[in-house]
Amino acid sequence: MSKKQTIKCPKCDGRGKINFSSLAAGKCFTCYGAGVVSVDAPSARDAILGAQMNARLCISWAMEAADRGDMRYAAHKAEQAASYLHSVGTERARVVLAEVAAGYYHDETQGKKGRLSPELARQVRAMIIEAGRAQAAA
Ligand SMILES: [Zn+2]
Repeated sequence: MSKKQTIKCPKCDGRGKINFSSLAAGKCFTCYGAGVVSVDAPSARDAILGAQMNARLCISWAMEAADRGDMRYAAHKAEQAASYLHSVGTERARVVLAEVAAGYYHDETQGKKGRLSPELARQVRAMIIEAGRAQAAA
């Protein structure tokens, strides 16, 4: 049985809310407003897969935000995605970034799959790549 640990909610960064007030007063649907989530404590072996999964989550949230026009939050999640992608290695990062071009994301507020326009998908992909370059240069 894996150990559980409580961490700051990765979607709302511990605020319990996201900038999306037209539904449930902006309550975060990942932590249900608690600001924290319980997750499995990762083994060293799972660290890379975990980072890859976190990158995919951040990308999905970036796309969800872009779809509702919140480009500021999208850019913030793109930055975090770039940071996770940096730790998974170039090959895996390429695969994940190729997936972004398809534009599919999980829309948590609707509980279904959403899809970005090709233009917005390109924009999100560019934000992730740009953030990755900025982080590599820093
Ligand atoms: Zn949250």
